[in-house]
Amino acid sequence: MKELTRAGSSPAVVPGIASPDSKTARADPPHHSAPAFLWSWKLLTVANIDVYVHGTFVLLIAFVGFNDLIAGRGLPAMVRDVVLLLAVFAAVVLHEFGHALTARRFGIRTLDITLLPVGGVARLEKLPDTPRQQLLVALAGPAVSLAIAGVLAGVVTAIEGTVGFASLGGANGTFLTQLMWINVALAAFNLLPGYPMDGGRVLRALLAMRMEPELATQLAARVGQGVAVIFGLVGLLVNPLLVVVAVVVWLGAKAEHSLSTVKVALAGLSVRQGMITDFRTLSPKDPLSRAVELTLAGFQQDFPVMDGTQLGGVLTHGDLLRGLSGHGANLAVEHAMRSEFETASPAESLDGALTRMHQGKCPVLVVVERRDVVGVLTVGNIGELLAMAAAGRRSSAVPGRAGNGKRLANA
Ligand SMILES: [Zn+2]
Repeated sequence: MKELTRAGSSPAVVPGIASPDSKTARADPPHHSAPAFLWSWKLLTVANIDVYVHGTFVLLIAFVGFNDLIAGRGLPAMVRDVVLLLAVFAAVVLHEFGHALTARRFGIRTLDITLLPVGGVARLEKLPDTPRQQLLVALAGPAVSLAIAGVLAGVVTAIEGTVGFASLGGANGTFLTQLMWINVALAAFNLLPGYPMDGGRVLRALLAMRMEPELATQLAARVGQGVAVIFGLVGLLVNPLLVVVAVVVWLGAKAEHSLSTVKVALAGLSVRQGMITDFRTLSPKDPLSRAVELTLAGFQQDFPVMDGTQLGGVLTHGDLLRGLSGHGANLAVEHAMRSEFETASPAESLDGALTRMHQGKCPVLVVVERRDVVGVLTVGNIGELLAMAAAGRRSSAVPGRAGNGKRLANA
């Protein structure tokens, strides 16, 4: 139903940068990533995109089957309902591929697609750059659902002579008629202008064509919350299930608001613009006291560890504190550092890098160009860049990063 624009923690953990293909590994990272959700299993890989199914989905199938059994509908009805459920979820997968393959046309990878009992989630590497592209990616899912409904309508008409409006929403239609209406409902529900749904993104993209992106996000989020309130009120009168939907939409609008404020601010910026280029490194044999000195002198908190000219590890502030409390200041850096870490290239999008840091639970990325360490990127840097950009917008005379401030304002 929705595309998540969150990059996964890339499995391209580069243990050192000595291997000749490590650069290619970063430039074109393998698409396989850790699944977005716990308890999900890989079902298949189509067009280089892994499709996962969440464990609770199996529970849903069991529930539907069991429900038919205790209602005494018999085995054939049970099989039919379970097959219908599987067909609906196949249609949801196609809907998600609509988002994913449209995003691919704009050069954006999809990390994976996960089927949850509430629908599908396609995890895009980042937001498309322009509102027009965002609009097309958001519309592609519902368009696929409508196309499926159209094909089914053709088949149903060919078989039965009519589309069967009588079975609209009812359980008494034929298998294909039901599947057709469910796809129409999928498209319609997803086009509601609330945030977890595609309609929220459509609205935001349309607004962003006419106003500042941040304002567009805020307005779209407000409309989404309005939709949630209407859902909630109608739900109280009609169907408690709608109240649940209302809560999901409300929370989705709130989350999207804060997430996309950052995303919008970072759009178009690369790692090169956010990284520290004046940094210190440690050697594996250095004692931890050296790292303490450098930290206290105010250079930085996280250090690349260089073994000669090779990147051998990363010592984060947390690693340093753990090493100090466990073994004291004389412990060699190599025993406290992490040798599994992620790197970034200067050209990578800042937005994607930030997401990788969040998901990889590593507060620092060492920036590597060819085989040289050229910078260090920390969550703190990015926060600082955002703060400066915001200040730059209020007063255009911000030294240093003022150029970025301008770019952010126009992003
Ligand atoms: Zn969708």
